[in-house]
Amino acid sequence: MIDLHCHSTASDGSDRPAELVAKAAATGLSAMAITDHDTTAGWQEAAAAVARLDEALVLIPGAEFSCVYQGPAGERISLHLLGYLFDPAARGLRAERDRLRTDRFGRGEAIVGNLSNAGYPIQWQRVREIAAGGTVGRPHIGQALVEAGVVGSVDEAFAELLADDSPYYVPKADAEVHRMISLITEAGGVPVIAHPWARRRGPILGPDALVELAGSGLAGIEVDHLDHSEQDRAELRKLASQYGLIATGSSDYHGDRKAVKLGAETTNPQSLREILSLASGMEPIYSSSAR
Ligand code: AMP
Ligand code: FE
Ligand code: FE
Ligand code: ZN
Repeated sequence: MIDLHCHSTASDGSDRPAELVAKAAATGLSAMAITDHDTTAGWQEAAAAVARLDEALVLIPGAEFSCVYQGPAGERISLHLLGYLFDPAARGLRAERDRLRTDRFGRGEAIVGNLSNAGYPIQWQRVREIAAGGTVGRPHIGQALVEAGVVGSVDEAFAELLADDSPYYVPKADAEVHRMISLITEAGGVPVIAHPWARRRGPILGPDALVELAGSGLAGIEVDHLDHSEQDRAELRKLASQYGLIATGSSDYHGDRKAVKLGAETTNPQSLREILSLASGMEPIYSSSAR
């Protein structure tokens, strides 16, 4: 089983990178990607954990980048772009990761300020402790709201207080998606759009925009994702095969911050081979028995 989208404590997952690797091996995954939001901070610990494994596991270092697509009518559609196997030292991409993370920090503080001004008992200091140096995201604020007894679960926090249309919401800085595709590609990485039709998260890219991105260097589409209906998956799979895009599937695991389990959605071995053949930024990391 191959799972190409997993989060650790380097962003808004709840498992440390080493735990994530151990769980992936225990779950029977043969390959997993660590794809924290706008950071590579979990790579080193994950790679060290792979070196200690008895099981056969291939680690694909990656990240999930916060992007925006600006449509012809000026509409702004936020989206997530997975980048696999890029050179972490490549300067343009590195600067953009730093910019996105710095902005998320200030934006998290602004959301907490809005909630606090409205009377909710939540403190930025506590959210920072929960994020523990990882890329700050709304799930961390959600956990602080749960701890304060404001809501019963992170899910409940997202339903109202943290929703995009909440009065307390503050947008985050995003990277222009064509530019991000170029930065990932220039860094030797492989850009794959994450959950493109996760409709409940807000407006999505239509088929025309996906085809346009395919012409601009997008390499793949995450087809099998829990937020996609069967009909959407069928349509995305067809688009992928028509336009030569790699179709992937993944859990988008976030530890106990989301109900989904590791390996709940998977990528077929041929798609992974295609990703590996396009990548030149770095080598995947093999456990000793996976070589
Ligand atoms: P942010 O990156 O700060 O805009 O927050 C979005 C993140 O929250 C994404 O990584 C999602 O995976 C996560 N998320 C979205 N909806 C929920 C939810 N209902 N419960 C938990 N996490 C969520
Ligand atoms: Fe997340
Ligand atoms: Fe995402
Ligand atoms: Zn994700």
